[in-house]
Amino acid sequence: MSWAAGILRAIQTASAVGVSFWAPGMALWPCQAVRIPLSSPWPFTPVSNMATVKCELMKNFTSEEPVCHSKVSIIGAGSVGMACAVSIVLKGLIDELALVDVSEDKLKGEVMDLQHGSLFAKMPNIVCSKDYRVTANSSLVIITAGARQEKGESRLNLVQRNVAIFKLMIATIVQYSPHCKLIVVSNPVDILTYVSWKLSAFPKNRVMGSGCNLDTARFRFLIGQKLGIHSESCHGWVLGEHGDSSVPIWSGVNIAGVPLKDLNTAIGTDTDPEQWENVHKEVIASAYEIIKRKGYTSWAIGLSVADLTESILKNLRRTHPVSTIIKGLYGIDKEVFLSVPCILGENGITDLIKIKLTPEEEAQLKKSAETLWGIQKELKF
Ligand code: NAD
Repeated sequence: MSWAAGILRAIQTASAVGVSFWAPGMALWPCQAVRIPLSSPWPFTPVSNMATVKCELMKNFTSEEPVCHSKVSIIGAGSVGMACAVSIVLKGLIDELALVDVSEDKLKGEVMDLQHGSLFAKMPNIVCSKDYRVTANSSLVIITAGARQEKGESRLNLVQRNVAIFKLMIATIVQYSPHCKLIVVSNPVDILTYVSWKLSAFPKNRVMGSGCNLDTARFRFLIGQKLGIHSESCHGWVLGEHGDSSVPIWSGVNIAGVPLKDLNTAIGTDTDPEQWENVHKEVIASAYEIIKRKGYTSWAIGLSVADLTESILKNLRRTHPVSTIIKGLYGIDKEVFLSVPCILGENGITDLIKIKLTPEEEAQLKKSAETLWGIQKELKF
């Protein structure tokens, strides 16, 4: 029997008995009996005496389990989870990727599809299961699971549907990766980041929401479109609550250190003849527009999460507008998560930047904090 046929037969046998683990990379590992492991995603099982092409080809030096230094797990293999997966894999940041989803068939299909691109990208080991054991010893866990935002549904309406899911999910993540960092992407992201922080009992540096990272990327892209300059060179921040109530910090928008407010003192206000405020209106409207047209958003959020992942795994200490506990700043005295510029490194959020806000901007942040707290205080854990 060829090794490939052996693998196929083993998979078929395993599937028939309902085995939940699946190890697409198993053929890469040292000469051994071909069978689907029950307790580990990788088949480190006793060496077979059977002569196979693999045995003839290779002399095995070790049966030690591989040591993962930069393992990332993604919970939820939907549109956003898979966009995160592809973006992270293409950056070559990790040595193992684990994906978890309740929908097992879809999960396996997605992972097989991704694996088949191995030839064109330096793929890490990719494991998947609906069992959270595959996530064990992750450096970073990205949460994209949850109910999808429906057409026209506000993010806040999603909260109750998602809290129930998070209770079990966070407990299991923590059990298998007690030292990981968490990035929450699922909406309403600021509230679900608070929920994850509470449920995990992790220190605040290790729990963050993708928050306004995407809103800021959209803001910078649209400014760039207006000026004919690449978004990387258009500096500016959207802070506060992700989505409808986000706050554009017009005072800080600059190109090469030239503040646009110096050139147009009314920028971002109702009285601005150039109506730059439409840029932020478009940032807010764009999620609804994309969902109306294609049913979901995925690529930009995936790329933006991969950017956060890079800062954390490479300990880059770059600043990103991510959602963090904001209590004690801007007159906010409640345990709410809002986006401010945060320094990201291997310990998660190491510091935040105390950006100077106008009284109006501060009032907007406070209003968001009150709205979020109004919902959070009703939640039962
Ligand atoms: P999706 O429906 O395509 O995917 C969600 C996945 O989660 C599904 O595959 C589902 O099977 C899985 N899932 C559900 N419950 C689960 C559980 N208990 N354990 C494991 N997996 C589970 O949705 P999507 O389009 O990928 O969006 C995912 C989330 O990301 C949504 O909450 C969406 O609103 C949010 N989102 C956030 C941003 C942001 O900027 N923060 C941007 C886009 C989307």
